[in-house]
Amino acid sequence: MLTRRKFLKLCVQTTVAASLSQLLLPDLARALRLLPGGKPAVLWIEGTSCTGNTVSLDNSADPALREVLEEIIDLRYSQLLMWPQNNEAVQILYDTREKQRDNFILVVEGGIPLGMPEAVIIGANDGLPLYATEVIPWLAEAARAVVAVGNCAAFGGPAKTIPNPTGTKGVWEVVTSKPVINVPGCPAHPDWMVGTLVHLLLYGLPETDEFRRPRLFFSKLVHDLCPRRFAFFDGKFAQAPGGEGCLLKVGCKGPITHADCPTRKFNDGVNWCINAGNPCIGCAAPDFPDGGTAPFFARLGDVHLPAGIRSTAVSVTKAVGAATALGIGGHLAAGFARRRLGKNRLAPVSAPQETSGGKDAQDHD
Ligand code: SF4
Repeated sequence: MLTRRKFLKLCVQTTVAASLSQLLLPDLARALRLLPGGKPAVLWIEGTSCTGNTVSLDNSADPALREVLEEIIDLRYSQLLMWPQNNEAVQILYDTREKQRDNFILVVEGGIPLGMPEAVIIGANDGLPLYATEVIPWLAEAARAVVAVGNCAAFGGPAKTIPNPTGTKGVWEVVTSKPVINVPGCPAHPDWMVGTLVHLLLYGLPETDEFRRPRLFFSKLVHDLCPRRFAFFDGKFAQAPGGEGCLLKVGCKGPITHADCPTRKFNDGVNWCINAGNPCIGCAAPDFPDGGTAPFFARLGDVHLPAGIRSTAVSVTKAVGAATALGIGGHLAAGFARRRLGKNRLAPVSAPQETSGGKDAQDHD
């Protein structure tokens, strides 16, 4: 029996040794077989996206994507993966909406281009285009729940970057008829997607934070889980991406980004951004990238460094940044609390100065 307690434990305990899907598969297949009506259907609709989240799901090696689709979800519609076309494909949407009302799960990958509906055409019905702007709310109204995967679907993400010619919005800004769960990331981790779907199927809506992200995966700051945190405390900072030490000074947004990447890692535990020497770009943050995580290689401003060292101001997010900053450990939170984060982004600083020995000896106030 896969109890919720056991499921939550597996989610948190997942390590590089095994993906969540791998750990869940045997129990899950049994549990899903016992559900009345079997596995609920899933419709996966693309909005303004690069389809990177589908590719991320495909990067799950054990179980492979085929097993996820066959054992965990009953994926009926995906513009990227399905072979039916035109009327035959669209019929699946109509059938599922009618026959599985309040039982199917709608997954949306990508934002909703409200200002330019013709930017995303889901398919064609008798030669007439079906726009994502119309199809997504129409399906959502009949769905059991809506899951927005990837930062574009959750918060607009890269598709919403200034000047946002398509008028893209996150799904939860448009869909109000049903609960929307945000699973951000650029792309989202396969475990985050599968784990959220499994929770929905077996136990109902997962507990979420104020940005509707499942707390299971997004309750802790990258910074608090980061293995380079020891270097942060020691004041050892990399002077360029790829360097040794904490990556704060080359733009790391770990201190304002909630996600469990450091313990979960990507590509079945092969690696993750910071371990590869690249600063966290904050891709799971609600205002990624325009609102405070870009420029990616400009360092966060107004951040207290250890031993009273202060970083020079740079693009800290506005309201969202203030909210996420509250979750930063005490040594950082104190710095944020003393200063009001401005409504507008602060000017970026120039690239970090080279220092001898990697110590941040020149940044004392
Ligand atoms: Fe890790 Fe970035 Fe925090 Fe440094 S600033 S400890 S690299 S998360």
